[in-house]
Amino acid sequence: DRVNYGLIGLGTMGAALALNIAEKGYPIAVFNRTGTVTDEFIASAGDLAPHLTPAHSLQDLVAAITRPRTIILMVPAGPVVDAQIEALAPLLDEGDLIIDAGNANFTDTERRTAGARDAKFDFIGIGVSGGEEGARHGPSIMAGGEPAHWQRVGPMLEAISAKYKGTPCAALMGQGGAGHFVKMVHNGIEYADMQMIAETYALMHDGLGWDAAEVAETFETWNKGTLASYLVEISGKVARAVDPISGGPMLDAILDAAGQKGTGRWTAIEAQQLGVPVPVIEAAVAARNISARVDTRARGAGVFGALPHPLAAGALDREVIEGTLIAGKILCYAQGFEMLAKAAEQFSWSLPMATIARIWREGCIIRSDMLNDMASALEAAPDGNLIFAEPFTGMLRKHEPALRRTVIAATQAGIAVPALSAGLSWFDLMRTPRMPANMIQAQRDFFGAHGFQRLDGRDAPHGPWAHGAQG
Ligand code: NDP
Repeated sequence: DRVNYGLIGLGTMGAALALNIAEKGYPIAVFNRTGTVTDEFIASAGDLAPHLTPAHSLQDLVAAITRPRTIILMVPAGPVVDAQIEALAPLLDEGDLIIDAGNANFTDTERRTAGARDAKFDFIGIGVSGGEEGARHGPSIMAGGEPAHWQRVGPMLEAISAKYKGTPCAALMGQGGAGHFVKMVHNGIEYADMQMIAETYALMHDGLGWDAAEVAETFETWNKGTLASYLVEISGKVARAVDPISGGPMLDAILDAAGQKGTGRWTAIEAQQLGVPVPVIEAAVAARNISARVDTRARGAGVFGALPHPLAAGALDREVIEGTLIAGKILCYAQGFEMLAKAAEQFSWSLPMATIARIWREGCIIRSDMLNDMASALEAAPDGNLIFAEPFTGMLRKHEPALRRTVIAATQAGIAVPALSAGLSWFDLMRTPRMPANMIQAQRDFFGAHGFQRLDGRDAPHGPWAHGAQG
């Protein structure tokens, strides 16, 4: 077997990816900083072991691969990636390619791609979603790089990727950091999707007083309809699970402080940089941050009285909450895709909008049936705004009353639904022809002489106030 591929970093993701690559007929050499991990990996690889070449130094790794070499990095994002590139650089030859498959910040990928232009090797960054299971049996892959890179590694990436009815969930997103940017927005949407599901759980559990079985059954029912998705499916399984220690619902035993590795926060930061409103994603990031402040929340409950209260009798039911989540999900994805469209413009990427929805249909954490319709809708709405594309326009018309009813009922009971209400506010603004921004413009002109446009188009550089005089 000619070995054309190498992989560095046999952690959770790297080990699974190496097995997947070997299984699809691409022999691969592997290296891990801690050598015993490499030995254990080969020992447990079973039938695939003959297609895996262990290496115990970078020199051995490079020597084991036939030129032109392709070496995949699956190490923690950040300085470790730079250190690996630096260590590999003197060992590589013209035409060799390094692929960073970790969760890099796209600005790092842009920098590393530019850095490789002066080196003899090539560098690309690819986003890989789907966790360990995805990496082993088929992730969703968002590749960065030039078309020539895709021609070279695309067939392998398609072979190892998830398949949606036979179609590979892997594609070239664009140059430089495009792949990692799309992966970042995927994760931002993932935060929002998870938060909105958690908010419906609060409505059912705290607001309606449903037990774990009723909550689980609801998610299971939703998973057979419009909301069918991996996250709704696992929410049902999570709600069903029993704590082996207490014998009660597993959820009841879990501390309500959400962790994060930062990709959701990056999405919110980049959205702000781009000037694209993604309030549902921002609300989801903020909610995780607030959840971590367990002591402050307990203090607030003591000082102001604990929330939430139960929902008023008859305020909501399973169907209304389902409609709420459908509307919220559409609004969240509309924001995420709009962010991608804006980034494409800003960074001169030709992001394949419909293809992005297509490669998210399988393999990744946000996989869902709705993404199939989103792909078709994005063909017709490449600006990314799904609210103006069918079938989503019609679905929003249908489910908007449910979302509004839920936000009102939740607000009355003090059940915080930050992501759902952020979605509704955004949607309300998107259909408000005249916002109170005239007041903002007047204030800005008053204190800063910034001027404004008149509605009637007449010339009026400033208002009838002593602008700027107040300092
Ligand atoms: P793990 O912690 O499981 O593995 C990390 C790997 O990197 C190990 O092989 C480790 O080697 C190696 N490593 C750590 N520090 C160094 C260093 N300083 N120098 C050389 N090697 C080092 O991480 P994951 O597999 O979970 O994640 C890898 C990447 O994939 C990250 O960028 C992550 O964000 C991304 N990712 C993870 C997902 C997940 O679900 N876990 C999903 C999608 C992306 P050693 O054995 O010597 O410690």
